[in-house]
Amino acid sequence: MDEGPDHMEIPFHRAYITEDEIAEVVDSLRSGWLTMGPKTVRFEELFCLYTGARHALAVNSCTAALHLALRAIGLRQDDEVIIPTMTFTATGEVVCYFNAKPVIVDIDRETLNIDLGAIERAITPKTKAIIPVHHSGQPCDLDEIKTIALTHNLTVIEDAAHALPAWYKGRKIGAISDMTCFSFYATKTLSTGEGGMVTTENEEWAEMIKRLRLHGISRDAWKRYSAEGSWYYEVVDAGYKYNMTDMNAGLGIAQLNKLEWMWQRRQQIAEKYTEAFGTSELIMPPVVRDDRISAWHLYVIKLNLEALGIDRSGFIEELKKKGVHTSVHFIPLHRHPFYRDAFGCEAEDFSHAEWAYERIISLPIFPAMTDDEVRYVIDAVSVTAQRYKR
Ligand SMILES: *Cc1c(COP(=O)(O)O)cnc(C)c1O
Repeated sequence: MDEGPDHMEIPFHRAYITEDEIAEVVDSLRSGWLTMGPKTVRFEELFCLYTGARHALAVNSCTAALHLALRAIGLRQDDEVIIPTMTFTATGEVVCYFNAKPVIVDIDRETLNIDLGAIERAITPKTKAIIPVHHSGQPCDLDEIKTIALTHNLTVIEDAAHALPAWYKGRKIGAISDMTCFSFYATKTLSTGEGGMVTTENEEWAEMIKRLRLHGISRDAWKRYSAEGSWYYEVVDAGYKYNMTDMNAGLGIAQLNKLEWMWQRRQQIAEKYTEAFGTSELIMPPVVRDDRISAWHLYVIKLNLEALGIDRSGFIEELKKKGVHTSVHFIPLHRHPFYRDAFGCEAEDFSHAEWAYERIISLPIFPAMTDDEVRYVIDAVSVTAQRYKR
């Protein structure tokens, strides 16, 4: 298999870009309107229709979306925000922007999502918000998290970077919590190259995010002083340069059109994987709760280390030799020098994340993957597991 004629090289991700996306971007270029404009407005409208959210504000990353969401709730120095350890650093760094404290907590080792008991234990009088992360695209326990938040007067800001589209008890992610932040980074389920979106039901927050994403410039000033000409504006806050461009929004419009189809393909691939690994004693497929549907941004297997004579890193190397490129989502935040040193994280407080981290491998799953490629990945994983079976 290593060198033979049947050898394949399967990337971890391959973008699905067709003539639709190309036409949208060329259209922006020909129109001469390059930055935020009509396509961004259209993308936001379509995103509201798709998710059922009242307001959608396009920005240039999910990191910017999370930052603006925290600005909207008025996060201050020394406030605390509860986040899971099994996430990308963006979830934590945005809290640090305010000199506030990301309170990093453990996860449920089955779903890799934030643990409810860990949230409750972490609440103090300084806690202002919870940022649950829908790992791999599987929604967190949102009803329970909402109950905790209501009891303690906290805001819930979903990190839905993986969760487009995903469903919780029949409702689509994007119109459930106070605010939801999406990512359109190159590898995500909908890609604009770089990009992000905040959705919210709250008019006041929506207006604030709209201002802050473009230098804190008041839009009302334009209306009020329109008689004096369009050159006039007023800066009402210290904002940011976080707006989306129309070229990126064009990509978003084209991708949103085929999102349902792309999700169905991911779901098919996930089903094939789970069918193959579900009966294995050596590989544990992802656990998805009955009342929710995953976006399948990631397909994360866990190795049964008790039955295998190889560790996670070794397994990844073996797969790479066979041409199968994988990844790990994530190296838990508490293991990174910055979070460990700045917030005194101890591995023993994260026993479930530690357990999971030793075992997880993210397999390739993307809409452009062929059936042959899926079969090849299944074979590579199964053969490797069998070879190292104790
Ligand atoms: C990708 C990702 C982000 C950051 O998204 P950007 O659009 O790159 O800023 C945030 N949180 C999680 C869980 C992610 O996977």
